[in-house]
Amino acid sequence: MSTPALTIIGSVNLDLVASAEKLPVAGETVTGATFAQYPGGKGANQALAARRLGAEVSMIARTGEGPNRDAALALLRQDGVDLSGVVACPDEQTGVALIAVDKAGENQIVVASGANATLSPEDVNIEGHPDAILCQLEVPTACVMAALRAGSGLFAVNLAPAGPVPIELLEAADLLIVNEGEAAFYGEGLHRGGGMVALTLGAEGAVLYRAGKEVARAAAFAVPVIDTTGAGDTFCAALVLALAEGREEGEALCFASAASALAVTKAGAQPSLPWREDVEAFLREQD
Ligand code: ADP
Repeated sequence: MSTPALTIIGSVNLDLVASAEKLPVAGETVTGATFAQYPGGKGANQALAARRLGAEVSMIARTGEGPNRDAALALLRQDGVDLSGVVACPDEQTGVALIAVDKAGENQIVVASGANATLSPEDVNIEGHPDAILCQLEVPTACVMAALRAGSGLFAVNLAPAGPVPIELLEAADLLIVNEGEAAFYGEGLHRGGGMVALTLGAEGAVLYRAGKEVARAAAFAVPVIDTTGAGDTFCAALVLALAEGREEGEALCFASAASALAVTKAGAQPSLPWREDVEAFLREQD
């Protein structure tokens, strides 16, 4: 099987996480927290997941300049994602998510999308005829539409976070990926185009539809759950990669379920993204 080439158009963020006893109410200051920062953003997470699962990955995105850019791109660079399409904008900030977490794991998140919001269709230069293109909705929809028009390979969109999109996008995508909340937002519009729709159901697994009919279903693998951040992003990358490799639908869904199950067994988004060898070993153990 040759290595598939994927282009991912999406967000790059730095997640700044303060863990405290309790979350503040409006106007309150909570002290005594501990701090950590992690690279994040759905686009970057999916690019890293696809790379670790064995694809050649090019990313198209925008960040600011300076240390936040370097920190946000560190793992992508380390693992060999092609970042030549990630523009550094001198007048913009790298996207940041300010995350407060209490001791029960409840969180409050404020996202300052910064440079992500300035990504423009002119940035979307899809080179080298990739086998698949994968987008999410944390960058302007015009960029997703530009990627659709590039017309190279399998065109997949993770409709997250849910928001209004042109009907043409829902109709023309080869694969739409949604969780239950997103599926409720888009309703029957998801199945208008006759392409594939993957619905993820958390610990209940995932279902794949084609032209509105169920064609495959995968139960979630039973694993110790540490942190479900990154599970959805891993699922998207793994499913697109497996379909780009030409795997049959049920097998591709199973691969995506196994990869995302491994992502819930570790803390954090990017640090928890599994490698292909891990997924293959995990699948062998299940047989
Ligand atoms: P999102 O984070 O986008 O809402 P989901 O929570 O639906 O996505 O999770 C995506 C996929 O991750 C699921 O379809 C499943 O394969 C896997 N997954 C999520 N939670 C678990 C879990 N507790 N145990 C095993 N697999 C899980």
